[in-house]
Amino acid sequence: MTALDAGEVCGDHEAPMTTPETMIYLDNAATSWPKPAEVLAAVDAALRAGGSPGRGAHTMALAASKLVTASRQRIASFLGVSDPRNLFFQPGCTQAANLVLAGALKPGDTVFVSAVEHNSVTRPLSRLAKRGVVIHTIPVDDWGMVHVDALEAMIGKTPVTAIVCQQASNVTGVLQPVSDIADLAHEHGARMIVDGAQAAGHIPVNLETLGADAWFCSGHKALLGPQGIGLLYLAPDYDVRELVVGGTGGGGPDELGEERERPSCYEAGTAPVPLIAGLSAGVAVLQARGDAMRAHEAELALRLHTGLLGIPSVQVLGPPPGVPRVPIVAFSSALVRGDRVAAELGSRWNIAVRAGLHCAPSAHTAVGTQDEGAVRFGLAASNTCEEVDIALEAVATVIAEARS
Ligand code: PMP
Repeated sequence: MTALDAGEVCGDHEAPMTTPETMIYLDNAATSWPKPAEVLAAVDAALRAGGSPGRGAHTMALAASKLVTASRQRIASFLGVSDPRNLFFQPGCTQAANLVLAGALKPGDTVFVSAVEHNSVTRPLSRLAKRGVVIHTIPVDDWGMVHVDALEAMIGKTPVTAIVCQQASNVTGVLQPVSDIADLAHEHGARMIVDGAQAAGHIPVNLETLGADAWFCSGHKALLGPQGIGLLYLAPDYDVRELVVGGTGGGGPDELGEERERPSCYEAGTAPVPLIAGLSAGVAVLQARGDAMRAHEAELALRLHTGLLGIPSVQVLGPPPGVPRVPIVAFSSALVRGDRVAAELGSRWNIAVRAGLHCAPSAHTAVGTQDEGAVRFGLAASNTCEEVDIALEAVATVIAEARS
């Protein structure tokens, strides 16, 4: 049985084969690890095969083009995108967020953005605010969740260009009511822009029923792909200005116009074939075993969550146990700073977690943990119940030592 085989129950789960025996990796929300063997093999095979897709008519170039096309088709089908030409390979989620926000918004436009966004979204928006884009922050509740009625009351009669909201929080793990928010956006003639970084791979995603006009994610988190690749979806009627041009397209020296054809218009330069192949292999793993992997992740998250709630002075961020979330469980404690807990877990138990503000300081401000930060566990199907139990024991020990 491999690490990512489905349907394991607690206590009946082999250690991931590629994990060093002593490491307990619980930082999958930053980047998933270990990658499935299928992903490693696909990256390796693509590197060995070579070929520059869309450039040249020899067999290697054609095979590379075929690989990119087949990967796009697979990933589009996984994400419920009926025409793969509306799905673009990007250098990452942050790059895609920058492309959409800078390419879609102009001075005088009005944007509503949730209070819990990642810096990938808030920083491009704050740059745009300096150039005359009007930004309103949508408040959230204690779980970090947006409420559609509150947003509706806030919008009132204001003309709205776009609403920007994540699908799942990288701080509290909460799932946002994105499709209801999209309905509201469309009632107001606005576009719905969605950061799917922490949702893709953890929950089933159908981009066409979700109602997103633009959606982006990383390839290296729960989609199990390598770092250096992300995805962007744009609805067929939503054209935004490209950030990068050139390096692609046919034509002679007299044809210096911009490439307008999808998908190449948003994919300037030589495609990262090995990364695309790896991402496609990660998605294939999810297509084959995703249901059971998600069930295992939910079981782990619940075990960790309820265990943390049993430790005195620990406050778990986000919704209570039983409410669906992505397998991110973060906590804070008045007794000891998050970075201290993370350092102890790392040095004494070899447990990898992430402390601090998680590149989302506004999200921490929104849920009241901006001063002390939080310790975040990012779980994945490759983790075991035993690892969760060791982590709980470690947290309980660090907290007990802080009290004494
Ligand atoms: N949005 C969210 C919600 C995230 O958690 C992250 C990654 N931490 C990003 C965007 C940015 O992803 P990347 O670093 O892969 O560009």
